[in-house]
Amino acid sequence: MKTYAYWNDHRSGTRPTFIEKPEAVDVAVIGAGFTGLSTALGLVRAGRSVAVMDAGEPGSGCSSRNGGMIGPSMHKLGLRGLTSKYGEKQAKDILSEGLTAIGFFRAFIDTEGIDCDLQMTGRFRGAMSDQDFQKLTEEVKDLETIPGFKADVIPHSEQHHEVGTDLYRGGVVYHQDGGLNPAKLVDALTQRVVDSGGMLVNNTFVQGWDRDKDGYRLSTASGSIKAREIVVATNGYTPYAFRKFRRRIIPIRSAIAVTEELEPDLLDRLSPHSRMHGDTRRLVVYYRRTPDGKRLLLGSRSQGPLDAYDRIAAGIRKTYSQIYPEIADIPFSHCWAGTVAYTFDHAPHTGTLDGVHYAMGYCGSGVVRSVFLGSRLAGKILGRDDCRTAFDDLPFTAPFYYWGYPLGMNLLMKWHALRDRMI
Ligand SMILES: Cc1cc2nc3c(=O)[nH]c(=O)nc-3n(C[C@H](O)[C@H](O)[C@H](O)COP(=O)(O)OP(=O)(O)OC[C@H]3O[C@@H](n4cnc5c(N)ncnc54)[C@H](O)[C@@H]3O)c2cc1C
Repeated sequence: MKTYAYWNDHRSGTRPTFIEKPEAVDVAVIGAGFTGLSTALGLVRAGRSVAVMDAGEPGSGCSSRNGGMIGPSMHKLGLRGLTSKYGEKQAKDILSEGLTAIGFFRAFIDTEGIDCDLQMTGRFRGAMSDQDFQKLTEEVKDLETIPGFKADVIPHSEQHHEVGTDLYRGGVVYHQDGGLNPAKLVDALTQRVVDSGGMLVNNTFVQGWDRDKDGYRLSTASGSIKAREIVVATNGYTPYAFRKFRRRIIPIRSAIAVTEELEPDLLDRLSPHSRMHGDTRRLVVYYRRTPDGKRLLLGSRSQGPLDAYDRIAAGIRKTYSQIYPEIADIPFSHCWAGTVAYTFDHAPHTGTLDGVHYAMGYCGSGVVRSVFLGSRLAGKILGRDDCRTAFDDLPFTAPFYYWGYPLGMNLLMKWHALRDRMI
């Protein structure tokens, strides 16, 4: 079993040119994932000098190791959850922004001619209980009040047209969802940043920054770099050194295994329309066919060390044997893990904190949002009024009891797992 992302065996093959750290730039972007690359692209194309600095390589955080599943919804909160937090108007604006984001994303891929195996196959979300099915049905009614959302309730008697399992009590198909190969998207964004004159500085961990009269001085192990403005795009990998940001996000591990190639007949039974899949349990699961349609990619939250691959794979196998007993003994070709950034209100955040720009906290659904918010962030830095988003005004809070150490997370995950087993 390979212990790196399946996507790494299916990249575009081009490797960008990295540079030594420049002396000074207009904007220093910390983090070369989708957020940082998308922000940088908007800035360099408007003529700003930009250095994108990453502790590793572009995409080595979440961006090239995710499930590649995209969609406009916020399943965790839904319209009711958002309304109870922000009121009805803002809740509807946030959900509409999800549609704007996916529209932006598809147009961007199209205009740029990016090949990232995008397939808009829709998503089926299964209900773990009759009560969950009822809730999903109500959620679809709520979504119908947002112009443009397309979802259909699928009763239990028809769910085998969507997914080859008896586990669920029906579910919902969301038609504006789809899947892609995230590493190809990283490669395409990286190449465009470089082609537009952006500077990529890899293997350079930014230790922190000081303010001076012209802007900021960022420190790294190999010296400092001056920048008029800073963008923090470090999401789940935000270090303790960036204390104000770290206190606002909760890093949570997510892991994926990919099966060896399966028989076409079996795959057509398990995932007949090659949709993205998930369900209503508390400990998120997400699964899909790989873009070539030949394997299953199986994702879940994970506990324990990031590199305990046998343990991670065993956990994934146990979870998915319940959904698909037929694949209980199928070997995995790849297994890997990464760190997503949750926030205390389950919503992504973007704005400026102590003069430093940021977009982060995608709560495990960041492929589209990071590209979208990164592009909007670039526009705001350039002073464009039309780049505000529905996420701009959400309070990005740091509770007094949380200092960025996700203590008790294992306990919380075990509690959610127990609640899932009690359904
Ligand atoms: C296993 C897994 C599955 C997922 N599945 C999905 C999915 O199916 N659909 C979906 O929408 N989302 C998914 N996500 C989430 C999605 O990948 C992220 O929301 C998105 O990639 C965030 O992009 P980003 O650019 O903000 O952060 P990242 O891609 O994580 O980039 C942050 C970068 O910051 C760098 N960095 C951190 N600190 C420093 C520093 N001090 N100096 C320099 N560099 C630094 C890191 O090296 C890293 O490259 C998944 C995530 C994981 C881990």
